[in-house]
Amino acid sequence: MFDFHIHTHHSFDGFHSMKELTEKAISMGLQELCFTDHKDYDYDGEGNDFTFSYDDFFKELEATAYNYRNHIKIKAGVEFGLQPHVLKRYEEDIEKYPFDFIIGSIHSVKKTDVFTGDYFDHRNQQEAYIDYFDDLIQAIHQDAPFSVVGHLDMIKRYGNYDKTLPIPQYQDVVESIFKELMQRNQGIEVNTSGFRYHLEDAHPSVDLLQLYHQMGGEIVVMGSDTHKITELGFHLTETLSILHSIGFKYICTYHKLQPEFHRIESLL
Ligand SMILES: [Zn+2]
Ligand SMILES: [Zn+2]
Repeated sequence: MFDFHIHTHHSFDGFHSMKELTEKAISMGLQELCFTDHKDYDYDGEGNDFTFSYDDFFKELEATAYNYRNHIKIKAGVEFGLQPHVLKRYEEDIEKYPFDFIIGSIHSVKKTDVFTGDYFDHRNQQEAYIDYFDDLIQAIHQDAPFSVVGHLDMIKRYGNYDKTLPIPQYQDVVESIFKELMQRNQGIEVNTSGFRYHLEDAHPSVDLLQLYHQMGGEIVVMGSDTHKITELGFHLTETLSILHSIGFKYICTYHKLQPEFHRIESLL
């Protein structure tokens, strides 16, 4: 099994060394993992960065990959916080460092943090969703450098609404996103953290995964979005079964920014 969304102590909200996480992954029988620490420039629209030192990250990663090379494959990833005005800086970063895999995630919308800011005060639920997806589509149009979109419908987790917005109210924009991604050979992540937040569904939800599959989407990567070591590998086997039942034949990992396709049937 492959876990391609893992935060280490290099992330502002991560705790564990690569050694600890790798040893745990080996004990769980994972074949491959990818460390994807947070790189969020101008996170709150006030110039604050949630970033880390690439040099320190690569130094630790190369040592860990070497030490455990006979037991597990370790890939170099990053999670970029996509905002239209910081994309250039990410492009410069990936020119300089040899990443295997990049998650592009929306954490701030129209320069407002969607987790804790007053984002939801000035928008009704549908507007909150549409503005979020709108920033994502703008980033895609600007050729934002990423392999897959992270936790596509994560907006549904926030805002304290009684119910998530029914999909028909934002399906058009999601369809455009899928179309644009496929044209660019980019894909989506299935992020299993939704199961931890009692949403009882992945990000994106099963209906959106079905839509992606119907539209011909094939690039899917699985990640637990681990911040705490107990979250490593969370719900991956169950999620793979869900993907299989939807009709996906392959799950992807990445090497040097190129997708590698693994038959789901051989992993179940
Ligand atoms: Zn995080
Ligand atoms: Zn993450």
